[in-house]
Amino acid sequence: MSEEKEKKIYRGRIKVPYKHTAGDYVERFMEAIGKEDKIMGVKCPKCGKVYVPPKMVCFECFEKMEEWTEVGKQGTVEGFTIINHSTDVMPLKPPFGYAIIVLDGADTGFVHIINESDHEKFKKGMRVEAVFKDRRQKKITDIEYFKPI
Ligand SMILES: [Zn+2]
Repeated sequence: MSEEKEKKIYRGRIKVPYKHTAGDYVERFMEAIGKEDKIMGVKCPKCGKVYVPPKMVCFECFEKMEEWTEVGKQGTVEGFTIINHSTDVMPLKPPFGYAIIVLDGADTGFVHIINESDHEKFKKGMRVEAVFKDRRQKKITDIEYFKPI
């Protein structure tokens, strides 16, 4: 009978700085948020589905999408998680939520912050509205958070 050797576990953390190009579509999306106070999507010429954030090709029909359309600053929460503990990278002091939000006029959801600390107020179907920062940097965080309405 062989004796099992206890395995040692070494823990480490690797920091990997990186840069990547956002691409033309995300660039335009961020530009609209950062400069024009607008949230833009693209519409499929075949099925009419509006994508926010914008994609070049429709996931349903594989058509190239080139028609830009403004969507609402209000939307509906399709799913969420509530953050209760803090780390160095948290955008807000917990509790707050991360949610999949489908903006009015869009057919796809995107993830953003919900500035609400009351767990009871979170529910699928809750209505929210974008709150923009005063000083913008053409980043998705130019929408500081969404607030319940
Ligand atoms: Zn389509």
